[in-house]
Amino acid sequence: MMKKIIDGIEYKVWKLPHPLLIHWILNPGLVINELILGQRIPKQTLVISGGLPDPESSLIECKVCESLHPGTLWSGKAMFGHYNGIFCPTCEAKIPQLLNIFSIIILAITVPLWKPVQMIYGERVKQRSLAKLRDAKNAAAIEGVIRNSFVKMGMNFGLLMGVFYIVIFSMENGPSLGTIVKGVVAGAAAGVLFGIGMKLFASAFNKGKKPS
Ligand SMILES: [Zn+2]
Repeated sequence: MMKKIIDGIEYKVWKLPHPLLIHWILNPGLVINELILGQRIPKQTLVISGGLPDPESSLIECKVCESLHPGTLWSGKAMFGHYNGIFCPTCEAKIPQLLNIFSIIILAITVPLWKPVQMIYGERVKQRSLAKLRDAKNAAAIEGVIRNSFVKMGMNFGLLMGVFYIVIFSMENGPSLGTIVKGVVAGAAAGVLFGIGMKLFASAFNKGKKPS
């Protein structure tokens, strides 16, 4: 299998005749994924050596502008709806993709039905599928920021409470190593609880609120 080093990380180049990709083009059931749901698999995916073949550890390369995109862009909610194919979010060039053999047959027979639709709505479908990727990118970035902010909030609160506990315990029993250890443990526990509590509170608050 071909390998590629990017930023010091070794990736395996997944392309035909990789068994999973052969499966993608031969399994008739996947016609549903391609034609009904609009899912597409690129002809080539870079997967971290030793990593799982999941979107988290894969990159998709645009051969036109040479930008690399995380596989997660086309996962989750953005996995489907790419009826006109998948495109590079940077330069909007079409990314070469696989097509299931049965999809090819169905598409060949039904050309007169879908070709005019594609000519009229193709660009709109393309822009919609690109917009989906931008949403996925933003959602991932926002999620990362939120996760970090809860950790930070918990740490600050824990530090504050730790100092508070050490002072209180010292006032009660006099300063000692045991008092400090107790204060640190109590502060850490308070910090973790506070962080989790804030996260639960925020997710309960955000429930039902959909990003527009
Ligand atoms: Zn590109």
